[in-house]
Amino acid sequence: MGEQVSATAAKVSKATNRKKSKAVKASPKTSKEPTAETSTAKTSTPKTSSGKAAAAKVPAGKGAAAKASAKPESRLAMVRRARRINRELAEVYPYAHPELDFRNPFELLVATVLSAQTTDLRVNQTTPALFAKYPTPEDMAAAVPEELEEVIRPTGFFRAKARSLIGLSTALRDTFGGEVPGRLEDLVTLPGVGRKTAFVVLGNAFGVPGITVDTHFMRLARRWKWTDQDDPVKIEAEVGAIFPKSEWTMLSHRVIFHGRRICHSRKPACGACPITHLCPAYGEGETDPEKARKLLKYEKGGYPGQRLNPPPDYPGKPAPPLGSV
Ligand code: SF4
Repeated sequence: MGEQVSATAAKVSKATNRKKSKAVKASPKTSKEPTAETSTAKTSTPKTSSGKAAAAKVPAGKGAAAKASAKPESRLAMVRRARRINRELAEVYPYAHPELDFRNPFELLVATVLSAQTTDLRVNQTTPALFAKYPTPEDMAAAVPEELEEVIRPTGFFRAKARSLIGLSTALRDTFGGEVPGRLEDLVTLPGVGRKTAFVVLGNAFGVPGITVDTHFMRLARRWKWTDQDDPVKIEAEVGAIFPKSEWTMLSHRVIFHGRRICHSRKPACGACPITHLCPAYGEGETDPEKARKLLKYEKGGYPGQRLNPPPDYPGKPAPPLGSV
Protein backbone atom coordinates (compact mmCIF):
# COMPACT_ATOMS: atom_id res chain seq x y z
CA MET A 1 0.00 0.00 0.00
CA GLY A 2 2.88 2.37 0.79
CA GLU A 3 4.24 2.15 -2.76
CA GLN A 4 0.82 2.94 -4.21
CA VAL A 5 0.63 5.97 -2.00
CA SER A 6 3.93 7.29 -3.25
CA ALA A 7 3.13 6.80 -6.89
CA THR A 8 -0.19 8.53 -6.56
CA ALA A 9 1.36 11.40 -4.68
CA ALA A 10 3.81 12.08 -7.44
CA LYS A 11 1.05 12.18 -10.03
CA VAL A 12 -1.22 14.57 -8.26
CA SER A 13 1.07 17.03 -6.53
CA LYS A 14 0.54 19.67 -9.24
CA ALA A 15 -3.21 19.47 -9.06
CA THR A 16 -3.10 19.64 -5.29
CA ASN A 17 -1.04 22.79 -5.31
CA ARG A 18 -3.62 24.44 -7.54
CA LYS A 19 -6.34 23.37 -5.16
CA LYS A 20 -4.37 24.58 -2.17
CA SER A 21 -4.23 28.16 -3.34
CA LYS A 22 -7.95 28.02 -4.19
CA ALA A 23 -8.76 26.87 -0.68
CA VAL A 24 -6.88 29.72 0.91
CA LYS A 25 -8.49 32.36 -1.24
CA ALA A 26 -11.91 30.98 -0.51
CA SER A 27 -11.83 31.08 3.23
CA PRO A 28 -12.84 34.24 5.08
CA LYS A 29 -14.89 36.31 2.70
CA THR A 30 -18.49 35.36 3.34
CA SER A 31 -20.45 36.74 6.22
CA LYS A 32 -22.17 33.48 7.02
CA GLU A 33 -20.48 30.53 8.69
CA PRO A 34 -21.06 27.28 6.85
CA THR A 35 -22.43 24.27 8.62
CA ALA A 36 -20.54 21.00 8.54
CA GLU A 37 -23.53 19.38 6.90
CA THR A 38 -24.02 21.87 4.07
CA SER A 39 -20.55 22.47 2.76
CA THR A 40 -19.23 18.98 2.10
CA ALA A 41 -20.07 19.11 -1.58
CA LYS A 42 -17.64 21.97 -2.13
CA THR A 43 -14.50 19.95 -1.39
CA SER A 44 -12.95 18.11 -4.25
CA THR A 45 -10.98 15.53 -2.31
CA PRO A 46 -11.63 12.15 -3.88
CA LYS A 47 -13.53 9.78 -1.63
CA THR A 48 -11.72 6.56 -1.03
CA SER A 49 -11.33 4.05 1.71
CA SER A 50 -7.67 3.33 1.09
CA GLY A 51 -4.38 5.05 1.85
CA LYS A 52 -4.63 6.64 -1.57
CA ALA A 53 -6.82 9.36 -0.16
CA ALA A 54 -4.01 10.74 1.92
CA ALA A 55 -1.60 10.61 -0.95
CA ALA A 56 -4.04 12.16 -3.39
CA LYS A 57 -3.79 15.47 -1.60
CA VAL A 58 -0.11 15.58 -0.82
CA PRO A 59 1.18 18.98 -1.90
CA ALA A 60 4.80 19.64 -2.60
CA GLY A 61 4.59 23.19 -1.35
CA LYS A 62 4.13 25.06 1.89
CA GLY A 63 1.28 25.08 4.42
CA ALA A 64 -0.96 27.65 2.87
CA ALA A 65 -2.81 28.61 6.00
CA ALA A 66 0.47 29.40 7.71
CA LYS A 67 1.60 31.56 4.83
CA ALA A 68 -1.69 33.41 4.75
CA SER A 69 -1.15 34.49 8.32
CA ALA A 70 0.54 37.84 7.71
CA LYS A 71 -2.45 39.24 9.58
CA PRO A 72 -4.15 37.39 12.43
CA GLU A 73 -6.80 34.90 11.39
CA SER A 74 -10.31 36.00 12.31
CA ARG A 75 -12.57 33.78 14.39
CA LEU A 76 -14.81 33.30 11.36
CA ALA A 77 -11.90 32.24 9.17
CA MET A 78 -10.68 29.81 11.83
CA VAL A 79 -14.12 28.24 12.17
CA ARG A 80 -14.42 27.86 8.40
CA ARG A 81 -10.94 26.33 8.23
CA ALA A 82 -11.64 23.99 11.16
CA ARG A 83 -14.85 22.76 9.60
CA ARG A 84 -13.11 22.24 6.32
CA ILE A 85 -10.43 20.17 8.06
CA ASN A 86 -13.20 18.03 9.52
CA ARG A 87 -14.82 17.56 6.11
CA GLU A 88 -11.56 16.68 4.44
CA LEU A 89 -10.59 14.26 7.20
CA ALA A 90 -13.99 12.61 6.71
CA GLU A 91 -12.94 11.89 3.15
CA VAL A 92 -9.49 10.68 4.13
CA TYR A 93 -10.85 8.45 6.93
CA PRO A 94 -14.41 7.48 5.92
CA TYR A 95 -13.96 4.38 8.06
CA ALA A 96 -12.86 6.25 11.23
CA HIS A 97 -14.02 4.34 14.30
CA PRO A 98 -13.13 3.67 17.92
CA GLU A 99 -9.98 1.59 17.92
CA LEU A 100 -10.90 -0.55 20.91
CA ASP A 101 -12.57 -3.90 20.29
CA PHE A 102 -15.84 -4.24 22.21
CA ARG A 103 -19.17 -6.05 21.97
CA ASN A 104 -21.20 -4.16 24.57
CA PRO A 105 -21.01 -1.02 26.76
CA PHE A 106 -19.36 -2.91 29.63
CA GLU A 107 -16.54 -4.15 27.40
CA LEU A 108 -16.02 -0.67 25.98
CA LEU A 109 -15.93 0.85 29.45
CA VAL A 110 -13.38 -1.68 30.69
CA ALA A 111 -11.26 -1.42 27.53
CA THR A 112 -11.21 2.38 27.77
CA VAL A 113 -10.06 2.27 31.39
CA LEU A 114 -7.31 -0.17 30.38
CA SER A 115 -6.20 2.09 27.51
CA ALA A 116 -4.65 4.69 29.85
CA GLN A 117 -0.88 4.93 29.26
CA THR A 118 -0.83 2.18 26.63
CA THR A 119 -1.89 1.55 23.06
CA ASP A 120 -5.32 0.43 21.95
CA LEU A 121 -3.55 -2.46 20.23
CA ARG A 122 -2.18 -3.73 23.53
CA VAL A 123 -5.62 -3.42 25.12
CA ASN A 124 -7.24 -5.28 22.23
CA GLN A 125 -4.69 -8.06 22.56
CA THR A 126 -5.45 -8.34 26.29
CA THR A 127 -9.23 -8.10 26.47
CA PRO A 128 -10.18 -11.41 24.77
CA ALA A 129 -8.75 -13.37 27.72
CA LEU A 130 -10.11 -10.82 30.20
CA PHE A 131 -13.70 -10.99 28.95
CA ALA A 132 -13.54 -14.78 28.61
CA LYS A 133 -12.75 -14.95 32.33
CA TYR A 134 -14.91 -12.02 33.54
CA PRO A 135 -17.74 -11.46 31.03
CA THR A 136 -20.05 -9.39 33.27
CA PRO A 137 -19.75 -6.68 35.95
CA GLU A 138 -20.79 -9.28 38.52
CA ASP A 139 -17.93 -11.58 37.48
CA MET A 140 -15.39 -8.76 37.53
CA ALA A 141 -16.61 -7.39 40.86
CA ALA A 142 -15.98 -10.81 42.40
CA ALA A 143 -12.50 -11.20 40.88
CA VAL A 144 -9.51 -12.11 43.02
CA PRO A 145 -7.37 -8.98 42.60
CA GLU A 146 -4.11 -10.86 41.97
CA GLU A 147 -5.72 -13.00 39.27
CA LEU A 148 -7.24 -9.99 37.55
CA GLU A 149 -3.91 -8.16 37.75
CA GLU A 150 -2.19 -11.06 36.03
CA VAL A 151 -4.62 -11.00 33.11
CA ILE A 152 -4.32 -7.24 32.52
CA ARG A 153 -0.58 -7.02 33.28
CA PRO A 154 0.33 -6.40 29.56
CA THR A 155 -1.50 -3.06 29.65
CA GLY A 156 0.76 -1.61 32.38
CA PHE A 157 -0.20 0.01 35.69
CA PHE A 158 -2.05 -3.24 36.27
CA ARG A 159 -2.53 -2.89 40.04
CA ALA A 160 -4.23 0.50 39.81
CA LYS A 161 -6.24 -0.62 36.79
CA ALA A 162 -7.37 -3.80 38.58
CA ARG A 163 -8.55 -1.67 41.51
CA SER A 164 -10.51 0.54 39.10
CA LEU A 165 -12.06 -2.42 37.28
CA ILE A 166 -13.16 -4.14 40.49
CA GLY A 167 -14.41 -0.81 41.87
CA LEU A 168 -16.39 0.18 38.79
CA SER A 169 -17.79 -3.34 38.39
CA THR A 170 -18.90 -3.31 42.01
CA ALA A 171 -20.60 0.07 41.49
CA LEU A 172 -22.30 -1.19 38.33
CA ARG A 173 -23.54 -4.26 40.20
CA ASP A 174 -24.65 -2.47 43.37
CA THR A 175 -25.81 0.92 42.08
CA PHE A 176 -26.75 0.54 38.44
CA GLY A 177 -28.37 -2.90 38.30
CA GLY A 178 -25.41 -4.48 36.51
CA GLU A 179 -25.74 -2.11 33.53
CA VAL A 180 -23.45 0.66 32.30
CA PRO A 181 -25.34 3.95 32.74
CA GLY A 182 -25.83 6.13 29.67
CA ARG A 183 -25.41 9.48 31.41
CA LEU A 184 -22.22 11.49 31.89
CA GLU A 185 -23.04 12.39 35.48
CA ASP A 186 -23.40 8.70 36.38
CA LEU A 187 -20.40 7.46 34.45
CA VAL A 188 -17.97 9.88 36.08
CA THR A 189 -18.94 8.55 39.53
CA LEU A 190 -17.39 5.18 38.64
CA PRO A 191 -13.85 4.52 39.91
CA GLY A 192 -11.24 5.20 37.22
CA VAL A 193 -13.73 6.89 34.90
CA GLY A 194 -13.14 10.53 33.92
CA ARG A 195 -14.77 12.67 31.27
CA LYS A 196 -12.61 11.27 28.45
CA THR A 197 -13.56 7.68 29.23
CA ALA A 198 -17.19 8.68 29.76
CA PHE A 199 -17.38 10.42 26.37
CA VAL A 200 -15.84 7.41 24.61
CA VAL A 201 -18.52 5.19 26.13
CA LEU A 202 -21.37 7.65 25.56
CA GLY A 203 -20.38 8.37 21.97
CA ASN A 204 -19.72 4.82 20.85
CA ALA A 205 -22.01 2.64 22.97
CA PHE A 206 -24.95 5.03 23.46
CA GLY A 207 -24.85 7.35 20.45
CA VAL A 208 -24.57 10.46 22.65
CA PRO A 209 -22.35 13.08 20.94
CA GLY A 210 -19.12 13.81 22.75
CA ILE A 211 -15.62 15.14 22.12
CA THR A 212 -12.81 12.85 23.23
CA VAL A 213 -9.85 14.99 24.21
CA ASP A 214 -6.98 12.53 24.34
CA THR A 215 -3.31 13.31 23.74
CA HIS A 216 -3.73 13.24 19.94
CA PHE A 217 -6.80 15.47 19.97
CA MET A 218 -5.08 17.98 22.25
CA ARG A 219 -1.97 18.13 20.10
CA LEU A 220 -3.78 18.52 16.79
CA ALA A 221 -6.36 21.02 18.06
CA ARG A 222 -3.47 23.22 19.18
CA ARG A 223 -1.46 22.73 15.97
CA TRP A 224 -4.52 23.75 13.96
CA LYS A 225 -5.12 26.81 16.19
CA TRP A 226 -8.57 25.63 17.17
CA THR A 227 -7.55 26.43 20.74
CA ASP A 228 -4.51 27.51 22.73
CA GLN A 229 -5.71 25.84 25.93
CA ASP A 230 -3.83 23.06 27.74
CA ASP A 231 -6.68 21.87 29.89
CA PRO A 232 -8.76 19.06 28.30
CA VAL A 233 -12.05 20.39 29.67
CA LYS A 234 -11.38 23.85 28.21
CA ILE A 235 -10.28 22.32 24.89
CA GLU A 236 -13.47 20.28 24.84
CA ALA A 237 -15.54 23.43 25.39
CA GLU A 238 -13.70 25.56 22.82
CA VAL A 239 -13.71 22.88 20.11
CA GLY A 240 -17.33 22.06 20.92
CA ALA A 241 -18.21 25.68 20.11
CA ILE A 242 -16.69 25.35 16.62
CA PHE A 243 -18.57 22.26 15.47
CA PRO A 244 -22.21 21.16 15.50
CA LYS A 245 -22.92 18.67 18.27
CA SER A 246 -23.87 16.02 15.73
CA GLU A 247 -20.25 16.03 14.50
CA TRP A 248 -18.52 15.67 17.85
CA THR A 249 -18.10 11.89 18.04
CA MET A 250 -16.93 11.37 14.45
CA LEU A 251 -14.78 14.50 14.61
CA SER A 252 -12.99 12.93 17.58
CA HIS A 253 -12.36 9.70 15.69
CA ARG A 254 -11.07 11.53 12.60
CA VAL A 255 -8.71 13.77 14.54
CA ILE A 256 -7.38 10.85 16.57
CA PHE A 257 -6.97 8.75 13.41
CA HIS A 258 -4.98 11.57 11.82
CA GLY A 259 -2.82 12.00 14.91
CA ARG A 260 -2.01 8.31 15.04
CA ARG A 261 -1.31 7.85 11.36
CA ILE A 262 0.13 11.07 9.99
CA CYS A 263 0.34 14.02 12.39
CA HIS A 264 2.53 12.36 14.99
CA SER A 265 3.76 13.99 18.14
CA ARG A 266 7.49 14.14 17.46
CA LYS A 267 7.69 13.89 13.71
CA PRO A 268 4.52 14.71 11.82
CA ALA A 269 4.55 13.43 8.24
CA CYS A 270 3.80 16.84 6.70
CA GLY A 271 5.07 15.80 3.28
CA ALA A 272 2.45 13.05 3.11
CA CYS A 273 -0.38 14.95 4.76
CA PRO A 274 -3.60 15.60 2.85
CA ILE A 275 -4.52 18.81 4.69
CA THR A 276 -1.36 20.90 4.50
CA HIS A 277 -3.34 23.63 2.72
CA LEU A 278 -5.38 24.08 5.91
CA CYS A 279 -2.64 23.64 8.50
CA PRO A 280 -0.80 26.50 10.23
CA ALA A 281 1.75 23.99 11.58
CA TYR A 282 2.92 22.67 8.22
CA GLY A 283 6.68 22.18 8.40
CA GLU A 284 6.81 21.09 12.05
CA GLY A 285 7.56 17.64 10.69
CA GLU A 286 9.14 15.96 7.69
CA THR A 287 8.23 17.77 4.47
CA ASP A 288 10.05 15.58 1.99
CA PRO A 289 7.28 13.41 0.47
CA GLU A 290 9.35 10.24 0.25
CA LYS A 291 10.72 10.53 3.78
CA ALA A 292 7.31 11.52 5.11
CA ARG A 293 5.65 8.53 3.48
CA LYS A 294 7.89 6.24 5.50
CA LEU A 295 6.52 7.78 8.70
CA LEU A 296 2.90 6.79 7.97
CA LYS A 297 1.38 4.26 10.32
CA TYR A 298 -1.34 1.61 10.36
CA GLU A 299 -3.34 1.30 7.13
CA LYS A 300 -1.84 4.52 5.71
CA GLY A 301 1.58 2.88 5.85
CA GLY A 302 0.30 -0.50 4.72
CA TYR A 303 0.50 -2.02 8.20
CA PRO A 304 -2.08 -3.78 10.42
CA GLY A 305 -4.47 -1.64 12.43
CA GLN A 306 -5.07 -1.70 16.17
CA ARG A 307 -8.25 -3.76 16.26
CA LEU A 308 -8.26 -7.53 16.11
CA ASN A 309 -11.86 -7.22 14.91
CA PRO A 310 -12.05 -4.02 12.86
CA PRO A 311 -15.30 -2.88 11.21
CA PRO A 312 -15.97 -4.40 7.77
CA ASP A 313 -15.15 -1.15 5.93
CA TYR A 314 -11.69 -0.83 7.46
CA PRO A 315 -9.24 -0.94 4.55
CA GLY A 316 -6.24 -2.18 6.55
CA LYS A 317 -5.35 -5.53 8.02
CA PRO A 318 -6.63 -6.66 11.45
CA ALA A 319 -4.15 -6.50 14.30
CA PRO A 320 -2.48 -9.76 15.31
CA PRO A 321 -3.44 -11.50 18.60
CA LEU A 322 -1.11 -11.23 21.59
CA GLY A 323 2.08 -13.21 21.17
CA SER A 324 1.53 -14.03 17.49
CA VAL A 325 4.32 -11.76 16.23
S1 SF4 B 1 1.17 16.44 9.44
FE1 SF4 B 1 0.17 17.68 11.02
S2 SF4 B 1 1.50 19.49 11.23
FE2 SF4 B 1 2.03 18.52 9.29
S3 SF4 B 1 0.72 19.54 7.75
FE3 SF4 B 1 -0.38 17.70 8.42
S4 SF4 B 1 -1.73 18.36 10.05
FE4 SF4 B 1 -0.16 19.97 9.78
